[in-house]
Amino acid sequence: MQVKDIRLLILDVDGVMTDGRIIYDDKGGELKCFDVKDGQGIKLLMEEGIEVGIISGRVSGASEYRARELGISILHQRVDDKVSTYRKIIDEKGLVDDQVCYMGDDLADIPLMREVGFSVAVADGSQYVKEVADYVTVKNGGNGAVREVCELILKAQDKWDTLMEKHFGSI
Ligand SMILES: [Mg+2]
Repeated sequence: MQVKDIRLLILDVDGVMTDGRIIYDDKGGELKCFDVKDGQGIKLLMEEGIEVGIISGRVSGASEYRARELGISILHQRVDDKVSTYRKIIDEKGLVDDQVCYMGDDLADIPLMREVGFSVAVADGSQYVKEVADYVTVKNGGNGAVREVCELILKAQDKWDTLMEKHFGSI
């Protein structure tokens, strides 16, 4: 498996797209913090035709809002069995395991991390998750870990420099 073959990045939400904290208001409504730089990375990835999807064990309006904002149409929430949801997604898309990267942070992510071609754990993830992962990010969940992986994929596919030149001039 090589990072240059990745066609789909699947993300867990809590602890990966966020730092794992959930803020409740006095009515029980949930607030989450997402990272703007992660969002930019996701958009650049999708611009290059690499799809991004979300599989979350919890259900949250904030996740739905964030997905919509970024143009992520693959969104599965309240998922008990992440592996079977994953199988449905890649079968529909005609992809194979080696074309998929999954990012997780905690124990429930381990079964799916064992299926995909390239599994990533966030720096502040569970030690058991990090032991299973092909790659452990330098950045923490909700604090640039997703952006780090987006850049890693785009650079491995020789797309990063062209994207930078196109949007931001030579850097
Ligand atoms: Mg999580």
